Amino acid sequence: LALIKFFDLRGNINVFCRIRPPSPDELEESTVVRHLKQLEDEIEIITAGKMKKTYQFDRIFGPSSSQDDVYSEVEPIIRSALDGSNVCIFSYGQTGTGKTFTMEGNDSNPGIIPRAFQWLFYEASTESSVKYTFTLSMLEVYRGSLRDLLVTRYRGETDPHAKSLHIQMAGPSIEVENLTKINIISANHANFLYQRATGVRSTSSTTANDTSSRSHSLARISITRTCPHDKESTSTSKLWLIDLAGSERYTKTKAHGRTLEEGKFINVSLCALADVISALQSKQPHIPYRNSKLTQLLRDCLGMDSKTLLLVHISPREDDVGETICSLDFSSRAR
Ligand code: ADP
Ligand code: MG
Repeated sequence: LALIKFFDLRGNINVFCRIRPPSPDELEESTVVRHLKQLEDEIEIITAGKMKKTYQFDRIFGPSSSQDDVYSEVEPIIRSALDGSNVCIFSYGQTGTGKTFTMEGNDSNPGIIPRAFQWLFYEASTESSVKYTFTLSMLEVYRGSLRDLLVTRYRGETDPHAKSLHIQMAGPSIEVENLTKINIISANHANFLYQRATGVRSTSSTTANDTSSRSHSLARISITRTCPHDKESTSTSKLWLIDLAGSERYTKTKAHGRTLEEGKFINVSLCALADVISALQSKQPHIPYRNSKLTQLLRDCLGMDSKTLLLVHISPREDDVGETICSLDFSSRAR
């Protein structure tokens, strides 16, 4: 049965949807979920103007879905990274809809990232014909610049995280100049580094506000395969696990100054991502990678034989229906 499910995924780009469960407060308000209906592979939504719209997905995880339910559908895609494909997994949605919960989770409900670490090391230990090595890099894209989240110290710099990194093309492959790469030796080691990096992310912010919802956070696991009998035949693939900035719209009436500026960067990069994915889906000859730092950075892992998974998160709140429709529209461009 597991195999049937595996082959059931469509091609190289898949789009899943997860609906956040209402919080206890929201349940009390009872202004939730009436407008949203989850069918087999379709979401039906009643707009503020009382129109009915439907959106299709490869998988839908309802409010009562568990982290296990989600991971079991994501694992085949992680497996393809271990087998040699470049993979990007994106967590997309309005702030507060569960992007970080799905990717990181918490101690009692670990998300995709800690499960992927566990799974990769377990699989590597059971394989005797191939030797795997893993490295971890972590970075953040904030206001169009790239920051290394694993760097501990640059000589002579007061704030190592303030320095923006440059993207380099090395043949068909993309590299980030001076990006820290740490050899990870176990799932615990990887989790430790991941948590240290996300700590850097929130404390290095220059404003008092939490910027984590206004930057894209990216973890890159490079997987190298070597045959013990044939050291020449080494190959490397990349697995990107990406917690995107909140997709909510910033308008002049709601945001000012810095926040509005940040919002523009986010809008540009999310639009650029949608443009790239939809150009790939419709097999256009020109793929517009150049329009944002995010898509430049992921260029060698979006398209061709790479696999992309977009996890679209939506709110159960009726008040959020406008943002929810924007997120659903985004997902339909990618599909
Ligand atoms: P985002 O990263 O999109 O801003 P979070 O992941 O921080 O959103 O989620 C917002 C809140 O909702 C958190 O308290 C989180 O624990 C909770 N939450 C989100 N998704 C779920 C879920 N599927 N089950 C239980 N709690 C969730
Ligand atoms: Mg978050």
